[in-house]
Amino acid sequence: MRDLVIIGAGPAGLSAGIYGKRAGLDTLIIEETGIGGGQVLTTYDVDNYPGLPGISGMELGTKMHEHAISAGVEFLETSVTGIEDGGSVKRIQTSKETIEAKAVIIATGATHNHLGIPGEEELGGMGVSYCATCDGAFFRGRVTAVIGGGDVALEDAIFLARGCSKVYLIHRRDEFRGARKLADIVKATENIEIIYDTIPDSIEGSEAVERLNVHNVKTSESKTLDVDGVFIAVGTHPITDYLKGVVDMDERGYIKAGEDCRTNIPGIYAAGDVRTKALRQIVTAASDGACAVTSATEYINSL
Ligand code: NAP
Repeated sequence: MRDLVIIGAGPAGLSAGIYGKRAGLDTLIIEETGIGGGQVLTTYDVDNYPGLPGISGMELGTKMHEHAISAGVEFLETSVTGIEDGGSVKRIQTSKETIEAKAVIIATGATHNHLGIPGEEELGGMGVSYCATCDGAFFRGRVTAVIGGGDVALEDAIFLARGCSKVYLIHRRDEFRGARKLADIVKATENIEIIYDTIPDSIEGSEAVERLNVHNVKTSESKTLDVDGVFIAVGTHPITDYLKGVVDMDERGYIKAGEDCRTNIPGIYAAGDVRTKALRQIVTAASDGACAVTSATEYINSL
């Protein structure tokens, strides 16, 4: 039986892995994709992680992964399908095998929301994307639209504007949710056209994206934008479906846990974007990893 199994290898999971090894725990991280780093890998420019100004998401995520490997954390590539709470033994069911552990830290993060409009699914991978840093290079010299007004939408628009001839940034309100610094850059970038108070209705194209239909929520005026790509950045939702009925969650699927990362089940902890919290950032995810291990160590020592 393992001391500690961590599910997910983003900043929360990797930080937990490093702290777990430092606490002398036999620590395993299970990661579905086999790629350590998590969502941060797709962030072009991480400008708010202390001590590392301007570092790219890919470099930061890779460094965190390498750090965990060098600390001696073991990794297993498989998907977790459920957790059974057997009191002092937690059974983690995966698509390969069932693994037993004294304590579990859930750090599976979050994934992209979809808009649910006509054309979105049909043209997925044919001009509709949820990751500008992954797919932006295909749109060099072309016209794209970004949907959303948070940090990710602002970052995506700035990133795409470096290669695209024009980027429409379409936001449903007249004020951005994302950081002021990013909004200022967006507003000062010549080939970004901001369209406020507007929501997308449908995406059209025969073999690839050709048009985006939108309407203004204040005037009800509709219009069609000729675009080659649509980048959707309308937030995320937690990856917790596999835990339904195991731990308490809020109505949106976030696992209920405080700063100590304790869930309602002793020995099961939630760290990073999966947890109910006010601020979801790389720095708060890394912090959760450390706090969750502190709680888990106390629990393991009490067994
Ligand atoms: P977010 O902050 O939740 O923003 C989502 C945006 O999409 C909002 O502007 C929202 O509009 C809009 N939206 C939501 N549903 C929509 C719909 N159906 N139609 C049209 N627009 C819709 O999400 P995010 O930008 O993905 O960021 C997620 C988290 O990661 C945030 O906490 C963010 O701060 C964090 N993040 C951090 C960093 C970093 O630390 N460097 C980088 C990127 C992201 P409203 O504003 O009207 O609600």
